[in-house]
Amino acid sequence: MTSNTQSIGIVGAGIMGRLLALELKWQGHTVTLFDRNDRDGRGSCSWTGAGMIAPYCELEAAERMITELGVYSAQRWPKLIKKFAEPVFYHSRGSLVVAHPNDRNELERLRRRVIDNAPRPDIMEEVDGARLGELEPELAGRFPQGLFFPFEQHMANRDLLRAMGKTLETEGVKFVTGFTTQTISSGEISDGHSTHTFDRVIDCRGMGAKSDLPELRGVRGELFYLHAPEVNLSRPVRLMHPRYSIYIVPRPNNEYVVGATAIESDDDRNVTVRSSLELLSAAYTVHTGFAEARVKEASVACRPAFPDNHPRIHTADGLIRVNGLYRHGFLIAPALSEFIASYIQTGAIPEKGKTLFREA
Ligand SMILES: Cc1cc2nc3c(=O)[nH]c(=O)nc-3n(C[C@H](O)[C@H](O)[C@H](O)COP(=O)(O)OP(=O)(O)OC[C@H]3O[C@@H](n4cnc5c(N)ncnc54)[C@H](O)[C@@H]3O)c2cc1C
Repeated sequence: MTSNTQSIGIVGAGIMGRLLALELKWQGHTVTLFDRNDRDGRGSCSWTGAGMIAPYCELEAAERMITELGVYSAQRWPKLIKKFAEPVFYHSRGSLVVAHPNDRNELERLRRRVIDNAPRPDIMEEVDGARLGELEPELAGRFPQGLFFPFEQHMANRDLLRAMGKTLETEGVKFVTGFTTQTISSGEISDGHSTHTFDRVIDCRGMGAKSDLPELRGVRGELFYLHAPEVNLSRPVRLMHPRYSIYIVPRPNNEYVVGATAIESDDDRNVTVRSSLELLSAAYTVHTGFAEARVKEASVACRPAFPDNHPRIHTADGLIRVNGLYRHGFLIAPALSEFIASYIQTGAIPEKGKTLFREA
């Protein structure tokens, strides 16, 4: 199974499936991508995700391994985006983390986590109120201190999915939408009516793979799209709080994504009143201009996670399953897709990704 050109079928066109399809196509394989939803990725977890590439801020809840995968991916994103057929709203302006004075222990906890796990001194700047006001003038005087992570990035996830959809087309990947896969096995994908055969099949269905990956669980995430003409922030701002930590991520034209809850649940029904109160009240404490913002959308998805919240790449002859991207799909997909493409090309598990692979 290590010949240079293979026919490869991928199920699931979230961030993982799309990036892998492109990566494999660029290697010269013949690739078909299947999804039950539309070309833009509506209905996927990736459609809801906030699009932050924040390897250091994520140390708030994640382990060093995620930071390492994220730093590796963050180096790849700018080059990947240049190869896409349409522009993507993408910025590398860093992230700012703040806390209200009563919650400064939360800021200190993150500061320590970063020092212990990412020992490069230039990746975090401890900022006082004046410097914070320089970085984000509309937050001047609101917070006495904060942490600035200059190398972090953010992008509009829906732009990205759309641009990747277009790129799949221009690169010659066959993209089959409206196809609900019933069975996936070594070399075969079926929706119960038609069966497609390939040299290799890759399962990127996220929560849709739960019946084949019993350990997979959902972690419900809710967020808001707001139009806030009175708010001008240029980079993601995170508010640390013992119970209601939030992030505010800028999009073009004074739109902001405010999120996100993390609730142990597979329930992807509408956003609750409680979550709305918590997220929007917290956003208002960061910037009072959110009072007059318009709610454009409330979005929900369940993040696919394994018990340790680490991604896994299961390999068996002719079948690969990649899943458990949890709250880090955009952050780590470029690393994972490169490791899987290298494995397919060479038959060897790449050293950098060896802890992620599980061979049957
Ligand atoms: C509120 C929220 C905020 C987030 N913010 C960030 C962030 O800022 N940064 C970050 O890195 N990550 C973030 N994430 C996490 C990120 O969105 C996920 O890790 C990522 O989307 C998972 O991607 P995936 O491709 O594995 O799964 P998905 O995006 O869910 O894609 C799976 C695809 O499989 C398809 N599918 C499923 N079953 C079938 C079937 N039977 N037949 C055919 N197709 C099928 C689905 O339609 C879907 O398109 C966030 C998540 C949430 C919920």
